[in-house]
Amino acid sequence: MRIDVLSIFPGWFDGPLTSSLLGRAAGDGTLDLRVHDLRDWTTDRHRSVDDAPYGGGAGMVMRADVWVAACESVWNDLPPSVTTGDPDPPADAAYVAGGDRPRTLVLTPRGRPLTQALAAELATEDRLVLLCGRYEGIDERVHELVATDEVSVGDYVLFGGEVAAAVVIEAVTRLLPGVVGNDASPQDESFSSGLLEYPHYTRPAEVRGQGVPSVLTSGDHGAVDRWREDQARELTRRRRPDLLPPDAT
Ligand code: SAM
Repeated sequence: MRIDVLSIFPGWFDGPLTSSLLGRAAGDGTLDLRVHDLRDWTTDRHRSVDDAPYGGGAGMVMRADVWVAACESVWNDLPPSVTTGDPDPPADAAYVAGGDRPRTLVLTPRGRPLTQALAAELATEDRLVLLCGRYEGIDERVHELVATDEVSVGDYVLFGGEVAAAVVIEAVTRLLPGVVGNDASPQDESFSSGLLEYPHYTRPAEVRGQGVPSVLTSGDHGAVDRWREDQARELTRRRRPDLLPPDAT
């Protein structure tokens, strides 16, 4: 899968996304992650990506012309010089704003909440483009002309979309075939079955007087499976009853 990220802080992605399983997915070609600096599509010497809001008010708004140029460039693999400052779509471009385009997500608190189901849906795409907002957010015309989706990572407000994009990238990438080994199959994890996951234990058998549920050391695999299912159901009932069907609470 190819994921393009557009941000005014491209360096933000250097650390977290190059380590661990995500780094391995990028290293073996499962994930083709390309991070772009939005300022490469600016036209003035200050490389401005924002301006004061029409109608007044606090804060700055990210400019639609810069985002449109950046997205048409990235969608079509064209260098910034082709789209920057041009009010028209690039000639013969396969993908244009307002038309056919790869799945393009604006990260925004007002978006569709990211769930495991949405991550699974996104993991079936060949390409994703993630737009990281800053300041007060992005000009509404980018939402209308460029975005195919608006996605939120939770009911809180972050400084910018970079953390949210990283959450989407992690949630999606670990569902790509071969990224997570068989010993930790994503199908068994929280939310995939509609339940939170059961508790895990490993050696040592006792820590500060706390032991391990005896069923886990009984060798009875059927009993272990039943115990895990009961635990998952009970944890979900206590902590996230909203995940259960109405008649199961
Ligand atoms: N004024 C906006 C509002 O009230 O909804 C918040 C803007 S926030 C300070 C700047 C950027 O951070 C947003 O454009 C978005 O890209 C990102 N962001 C903040 N919280 C987010 C969330 N919960 N989910 C996804 N993106 C978020």
